[in-house]
Order: sequence, then structure tokens, then C-alpha cells
Amino acid sequence: MTRSILARLAAAATCAAALGCSKAASSSAVTPADAKTFLDAVNATTLKLSVEQAQAGWVQQNFITDDTEAMEARASQAANDAGTRFAKESTKYDKVDVPADQRRLLNLLKVVNVLAPPADPKESDELAKIMARLESTYGKGKWCTDASKPDTCKTVEDVTRILAAPGDEPKLRAAWEGWHTISPPMRKDYQRFVELSNKGARELGFADTGAMWRSKYDLPPDAFTKELDRLWDQVRPLYVKLHAYTRLKLRQKYGDVVPANGPIPAHLLGNIWAQEWGNVYPLVAPPNADPGYSLTDILKKHRMPPLDMVRTGERFYTSLGFAPLPKTFWERSLFVRPKDREVVCHASAWDVDFVEDVRIKMCIEPSAEDFTTIHHELGHNFYQRAYKDQPVLFRDSANDGFHEAIGDTIALSVTPEYLVKIGLLDKAPDTSRDLGLLMNRALDKIAFLPFGLLIDQWRWKVFSGEIPPGQYNKAWWDLRLKYQGVAPPSDRSEDFFDPGAKYHVPDNTPYTRYFLADILQFQFHRALSKIAGCTLPLNRCSIYENKEAGRRLNAMLSMGLSRPWQDALEALTGSRQMDATAILDYFAPLSSWLDEQLAGKPVGW
Ligand SMILES: [Zn+2]
Repeated sequence: MTRSILARLAAAATCAAALGCSKAASSSAVTPADAKTFLDAVNATTLKLSVEQAQAGWVQQNFITDDTEAMEARASQAANDAGTRFAKESTKYDKVDVPADQRRLLNLLKVVNVLAPPADPKESDELAKIMARLESTYGKGKWCTDASKPDTCKTVEDVTRILAAPGDEPKLRAAWEGWHTISPPMRKDYQRFVELSNKGARELGFADTGAMWRSKYDLPPDAFTKELDRLWDQVRPLYVKLHAYTRLKLRQKYGDVVPANGPIPAHLLGNIWAQEWGNVYPLVAPPNADPGYSLTDILKKHRMPPLDMVRTGERFYTSLGFAPLPKTFWERSLFVRPKDREVVCHASAWDVDFVEDVRIKMCIEPSAEDFTTIHHELGHNFYQRAYKDQPVLFRDSANDGFHEAIGDTIALSVTPEYLVKIGLLDKAPDTSRDLGLLMNRALDKIAFLPFGLLIDQWRWKVFSGEIPPGQYNKAWWDLRLKYQGVAPPSDRSEDFFDPGAKYHVPDNTPYTRYFLADILQFQFHRALSKIAGCTLPLNRCSIYENKEAGRRLNAMLSMGLSRPWQDALEALTGSRQMDATAILDYFAPLSSWLDEQLAGKPVGW
């Protein structure tokens, strides 16, 4: 994960009256010169406040104490206040005739907000308190089997571990239901949050908060919604097959709890939210599909230190022609869990000065998963460096799906042939052994797609009022059934608030970016493989050492946010349209195999 320069300014903003955060003044007196002066000031202030926030955030996450938390909160508040102020002030220039790049900057200031607090200071304050309460309700959320005994209480990590181990159905059901007890107290707050945030969005000229979120994609909001439907329609047939085969295997394991042709119970897919299914791989593994090697075992056998794993990741990017990471990256990054202090180990990539001071923060273990995560985080860093010469506000990815997709694209090039090339594997297994690798990957990447889509489908309808508060939970399960084909393990009335049991809902983080990233990484991989002249099956293509692929990748990355994402996409892929057919190409061998397995069997729900 990473946070862009604008997102830092815009996230969860509260409006301080002292900063002049009132409704925009009349536009009658402003001139193009005023707009230029305003944008220059915004650029300078944004850079200053973002650097301060990044420094405070880095220290806080690397030395967790009450004091560093307070310092980080102060720096965030200053940046958030400025972001809200800029959004409102930018409306003053709506009718001023300015050059195209300045118009793009002015629009950006408005659409980048995730939350727009209402101008009324009392309402703005109420909204800030609600947001803090929602986040802490989630953060402190625990499933307690006996409330009088705190040591029976389980955190989200505990529940995650229970659900990750297939086997004992009643135990899985209890854990699933247990975790969903954390969210009913959020319902009232969430309803009020919707009212207040919509009010703020309307003050910025949007129909509601959902329309504000959709407006940042260089398309009319409704056209963007249609675009998502189109992408989902492309991959849905493959998802439905994966769903049917997984259901078949889960039914063999759990019996009638799993219907022969209905939705899959949500507690049996190895994950609290049934969003990634990799943990049920042992139940659905194709026979004789062992690839013959395990990257985790190789890393352990070579006793590869964390620093060498990162160097290996860096070497992939430099093999494409990117400059090596700066000396400060190696001096300032965190690679191993320190013994002497509390740190946030959740992997992240940083761009502290928004020029050259890039870093990662991870507690690296010698595992295939961490090896992939290193490539993911470095993707953020190389993107950040590629756009460092853009004006401050354009130092971000083409759309928010792009930033998350780059490192994953590179990770798709970590193929058996690549491992042979860098000396970690003696011989690449025959492609007939690929089914296991493909199934494993599909359980994470294909299974995630409908989930990545539906979170915001629910929120957009909630913001627009199409889903009224009295139907929050019913609508949630209707969408989960429609997209994922999953059902709750027991009746879920409106006494529950199941969306709140997923972090990104109380935290108010938009989610469509993860759906887009999942689609884009395969589209990027297919385009780069073609540029590199790869004629192997797409899942065996690696762009390692291919300078032309690197040049085209850099052409896209270096544009940052300065142009509509369609231009950036075209620079790399030659197409102006997102396209999920690359996923179908990548998983073609698995798809044919699923067809054989499912002959005569029920498919769909
Ligand atoms: Zn990321």
C-alpha cells in the first residue's frame, strides 16, 4: 500500500474554521492570474505539509509511542484541513478561463477528496467525531466468547487464523458470526456519516459522496459505472467456473452445509470476507499439479537474508533500465522487525520528500509471499521516482488502480524461467505442471474480483439513497449474492451491520481501486510480454532484462497524474480502454481444465 501526495491531503478531512474553511467567495472578481497564484500557493503548501506528514508518519510507525502518535495526528490534521480548504477555494475559479493543465489541477483539487466535511463548523465537528468513533470501534473490535473474561476475546488476526484453517465447520461458523458482532454498534453512526458527508459533497457541487468518488476517473460518473460493469462481464464466466469447482470440492469436504447448486456459505472460503480463497487451496488443488518446487523452501534453503531479497527485487527493475534505488533507500528503509521497539509491520512504500527519499517498511520473512510483496512495494517506489519531475499535484498514479497494479505486474514476471535465470532454481518444470500455480493464483486474484467490485456498489447506492438505512444489511447480502455467489451462514436481519465488519467501510477507504488494479496488472503484463516478444503461455512470460518493455513502462509511469489515465494506458498498452481479457488469456489453461471437471455439473447459483 502507499498513500499519494493528494490522498494525504484529502483523507478524512475535518474543517477548522480558523483556516478560513468557509463557503467559497463569489467568483465575480477573480482573474486567470489569480488562479495561477492560487495554484502556485497550493503546490508549495501541499509539498510542505505532505513532507511534514510523511516524516511524522514514518517516525510514528517506526517508533509507536503516545508522543509520536500525537505528532502524526497533528501533521495529518494540518494537511487534511488544507486539502478541504483548497477544494472549496478551487470552486472560485470554476468560470475563469485558464490553460488546460491548470484546469486539470483545479478539478483535481475537488475530486481528490474522499470526504468533504460540511461548511457548518458544528456539523463538520460532528462528522470528525463520528469518523474517529467508527475507526476506533473497528480497531478495538474483538469477538469475546465470555465478556467477563477478557482473555477469551479474539482480535481480527485471531479470527483470520481460525478461518484460514479449513476443517471444523461449527468452529468456522462461530468465528465468522463472532467477528460480525463488532459492527452493529456502528450502524447509527454510519447513517449519520452518510448524511453529513453527502452534505459536504453537495457543497462542492456533487450529487452525493459516491458521485464525488466516481468523478476522479476522467469519465462522467455514470460512464465509469458502466465501464466497471463491462469489465466484470468479461471475467464473470471464469469466476463462475472457479466458484462452481470450489463449491463442488467444499461440498465433498463439508457435505450438505454446502448446496449442490446454490451460493457458497461465506465462512468456508478461508477468509473472514470470502475475498481471497487461497487458504482453501489444499481442498481444491488439481491432482498431480505440484509444480515440483516451492519458492519458500528455496529461499529458506539459500538462507537468503531480507536485504538480499530486496536487492533481488531491485535488480528486476534495474534490469528493465530503471536507475538503482538511492543510497538513502538502503539506509532509511525498515526490512526486519526490530527487537527493541513496537513498529507497524504491515508492509508499505513511502515517498518522504516526494522527490528521491523513497523507502519501504516491512518485516521480511524468507517466504514466497514476502518475496512477492517486496516486488509490490518496490513498484510503488519506482512509480514515485518516475513521476518526481511532475508538478507537485501530478505526483501520483494515472488513477488509483495504477499505483497498486505496477508491483503486482512485475511479480507476474517472477516465473520459473526467471528463477532459473537468477540461480534460485535449477530447471523450470514442464508447463503441464502449471495447473497448481494457476489455481493458487486464481483463488486469490479471480476470487477477489467480485468482492473488489461490490464494496463500492453498496456504498454508492447507500450514498445516493437507493439503499435506505432500513435495508443496509439486506442490500449488502443481496449484492454479495449477486456478485460473489456467497451467502451468510445464518440469517442476517437488520439488527446486524455486516458491511461494518470490513475495515474499509468504517475507515471510509474507497475500494474500486483494488478491482481496477487486479484487472490492470494482467493487461499490463500481457502488453509488456508482447513488447518483450514472449511467445510462451502468458503465465510463463517474464520481462526480466527487457529494456524495451522497461522503456514503455517508464513512459507510462513518468506521466504521473498529469494526463487522463486513458493516455497513460495507451502509452504502455496502445489501448485507451481497460481490458479484462488479459485475465482470460493468462488463465486459459486453468479455464479449459475447469470446463472438463465441470462437465455435467451445476454451474452458477
Ligand atoms: Zn500497495
